[in-house]
Formats: sequence, structure tokens, C-alpha cells
Amino acid sequence: MKKHNFSAGPCILPQEVMQKASEAVLDFNGLGLSLIEISHRSKDFVAVMEKARSLALELLGLEGKGYKALFLQGGASTEFLMVAYNLLENKAGYINTGAWSDKAIKEAKLFGEVVEVASSKDKNFNYIPKNYTVPSGLDYLHITSNNTIFGTQVKEFPKTDAMLVCDMSSDIFSRQLDFSQFDLIYAGAQKNMGPAGTTLVVVKESVLGKVSRKIPSMLNYQVHIDKDSMFNTPAVFPVYVSMLTLEWLKDLGGIPAIEEINDKKAQLLYSEIELNPMFTGFAEKADRSNMNATFNLTDDALKETFDAMCKEAGINGLNGHRSVGGYRASMYNALSLESVGTLVDVMSELERKG
Ligand SMILES: *Cc1c(COP(=O)(O)O)cnc(C)c1O
Repeated sequence: MKKHNFSAGPCILPQEVMQKASEAVLDFNGLGLSLIEISHRSKDFVAVMEKARSLALELLGLEGKGYKALFLQGGASTEFLMVAYNLLENKAGYINTGAWSDKAIKEAKLFGEVVEVASSKDKNFNYIPKNYTVPSGLDYLHITSNNTIFGTQVKEFPKTDAMLVCDMSSDIFSRQLDFSQFDLIYAGAQKNMGPAGTTLVVVKESVLGKVSRKIPSMLNYQVHIDKDSMFNTPAVFPVYVSMLTLEWLKDLGGIPAIEEINDKKAQLLYSEIELNPMFTGFAEKADRSNMNATFNLTDDALKETFDAMCKEAGINGLNGHRSVGGYRASMYNALSLESVGTLVDVMSELERKG
């Protein structure tokens, strides 16, 4: 039986994407060769890269607006430093909403002055800071749209004269936003787009070339743009699977269609967390994430029982991150409403057993 996969990352991908991906590993495009044993310069693979890049821009509504999409390597963690390498001349602002923001801040400090504009550390990051003032004179302001570990999500983004940079690793392509408010977006593939091994970067080309330092080629966005994301051998399999996922999303009706499903899934689970006395939510209600729901058992003594019931129902990947504890249900795009329904059934069954 296929499990209900609530893993936080690497995460669930659509079954039909898995099917096509596995076929391409054996025989790609009827070439009699595997996708992973052909040249990345071959016309069959170049078409994959071009399709993946254009679908990313199309789904985000950023075609023809001066943005480029790149599929790089090194994970979102490499973007923590690449962003600063390419954009930080004097001073950058960061909104600290959890472990990933914290890591981004640490890397940026290697390149210039970093101002922590706001933080929710005082409450173990269970909310999104609001009503803060963004100082003037920043090269850019960095924000994490969805805090995978803590289960919070930014609903309204700050207005600033500085460039806006967003780590969207765990909620890209999950909800409608005006993506043109961002100058640079990055996302590790493995949360909502594909297998681990590639990172999507969407950057407004006009923001580049403004820093005075020399940038090594592999860390230079402009180099990757000039080489059509093929400066070196790209992660061919992760890029291919990402392309398939983006095609799947487009066929489904794009971001508006998936957002509707994601809203339903989140409403179903959060209303159970609210109504069921056996559970308590971790994140503040106004800031709860539609992607990662964090919650605890009201009575820890029931952990063994609840875990066994989840296992019996085929539920996988529900353990919370060690810095929060409890449970975390990740409801990325490919997770079905039925899977959330199964989890909610188990939760209410626990209440009945009492
Ligand atoms: C997982 C995650 C990262 C780290 O991604 P890697 O690709 O493993 O480097 C960064 N930011 C957020 C929001 C994440 O969820």
C-alpha cells in the first residue's frame, strides 16, 4: 500500500510524475538511452532545461518581466551565501522567522553589515513579526515565506524600497502571490517541486552587477544566466523531475487550482486541531502555514498510542522537528485531500478512545 506521506522534505511528489520519471531513467524519449546517461548538451536535455525554466516563470506569472529562472545546485543553503555574494554591498536587512532565516543571516554576515529587522525568536518562532519598520539604506531585505520547521507562513510581505529577496523553499508554487514584488526568489527543489539536488532561483536580471567584489563563476548569478543555467553539468535528473512536476501543476490549472486544494487540506487539519481537545496547535492562528502544520498532543502519555494508530493507517513522516517537538504534518502540493482526511480520522479516533 502506498503510504500517506507527510514528510517535510524530501517530500511527496505526484504519482504520475514518479511514473514518467522512472520510465525516463530506463529509456528517455525513446532514444534507447537513459535520461541520466546522455549529454546535458544534447538537444533532448536542453529542451528539458528550457521547458523547466520557462514553466517556472510562466506559473509564477513572471514571463516577459525581466526575470530569469535558473536551476542551480548546492541547495537553498548555498543561496544563503550566493544572495549576499551577489547583492550585498553595504548593508542588508533580514527578518528572522526561524532556523532557516538564522542560517541565512549567518552567511550574509560574511559579506557585509546585517540588520536583523525583526525576529520572532522570543516565542520560539511560533509567529511572524508584524508592524516593524524597515530601515532605509538597505541593499536588500531578506524574508523566508514559509517556516518549514515552525509551521508559520508570511501572509503579507513587507513594503520596502530595497530589493526584496525571498527564501520560498517550502511554499513556492503553492499559493497565489504577486511574485513581481520580489527581486529574487530561491527554493530548494525537494520541498514542493522535485527531488533534492537542484535549487530554483528566479532573479530580476536588472538587480545584478551592482556589487564591487569579484564573484567566483559558480557563485555568480550572471554567469549562470549567460550560460542558460548550463555553466557546468546541471543536476539532470532533479531538473527533469522538477519539469514534470511543473507540467503536472500547469495541467491541473496552475497555482490558482492548487491553492484551492491546499486551502481545503489546511482547513480540514486545522479545524481538527482546534476542535479536538487531544491536540494543541503550535503556531499562532493568524500565521499558520498551509504547508506545514505543527501541533502537539495535549497529553504526552498518549504518544505511543497515537503513533501506533498513525502507523496502522499508513501515515508517514509526521514527527516534528527536534527544535519544536510534537508533530508536523507537511501538506505539500502533491499530498491529497484524502491523505489529510486519513490523518484527521485517526485524530478523531484518538479522541473517541479518550
Ligand atoms: C529546507 C529548507 C532550506 C534548506 O534547503 P537545502 O536545499 O537543504 O539547503 C532552506 N530554507 C527553507 C525555508 C527550507 O525549508
